[in-house]
Amino acid sequence: MYFLLGFIMSSSCLAFIGSPYGFGLGSNWLLYIGVPLIIAFWAQIRVSSAFSRWSKVRTSGNITGAECAREILQAAQINDVEVLETNDFLGDHYDPTKKQLHLSSNVYNTPSVAALGIAAHESGHAIQHARAYAPLKARMAIVPVTMIASQMLPFIIIGGLFFRITGLITVGIWCYLILLAFQLITLPVEFDASRRAKIILREMGMIQPGEEAAGVNKVLNAAAWTYIAAFVAALGNLLWLMSIRDRR
Ligand SMILES: [Zn+2]
Repeated sequence: MYFLLGFIMSSSCLAFIGSPYGFGLGSNWLLYIGVPLIIAFWAQIRVSSAFSRWSKVRTSGNITGAECAREILQAAQINDVEVLETNDFLGDHYDPTKKQLHLSSNVYNTPSVAALGIAAHESGHAIQHARAYAPLKARMAIVPVTMIASQMLPFIIIGGLFFRITGLITVGIWCYLILLAFQLITLPVEFDASRRAKIILREMGMIQPGEEAAGVNKVLNAAAWTYIAAFVAALGNLLWLMSIRDRR
């Protein structure tokens, strides 16, 4: 969820840069860039407010996010994953290349409903990795090419728009197709991690039915919308660039 706004803002800026050259703020821009931007802001506000509300509710089990993650990993017989604290706000993620589970300070040290939901979700990714869950393997496989595509894109788009090199715009469309594939494969990976988290928290008795379980659902469902928003944004960017090429 952390890179979502940056990703969308940068593509919107590119669209804005293109606007004096006749590619920008027309009806296509509104539909393909503006609408995804609104969805992204809405998703971001939703996830922030769900997190801040449920990070104030203490669980009856009274264990921190870090303890929760370690217990889940142990129960899943995963002994080679480190649970580490990170200072980045909502910077929680599992790094499969280093087998490290990073939890932000608010999650790592807090025995809240939100903290347990997020810690269990990230542990879900570690379990996916240990069990060789196919969508996670596919996602890991396309990470390098996704990085290259996203680093090349600004130069390709600026070159394509300013210097009117149609070939560059075609390369840009291919880059956006790669990013779209990445966002698409991210969806099952994220939904599955949250599905696992809800089951594990209930089965291990870390979250009680009723208010606590409802809070975990709210936090994880809000996070799910940020991934949907990222997918919609990637799709919007692709369609926007295709519409520019078609007008040439
Ligand atoms: Zn995740």
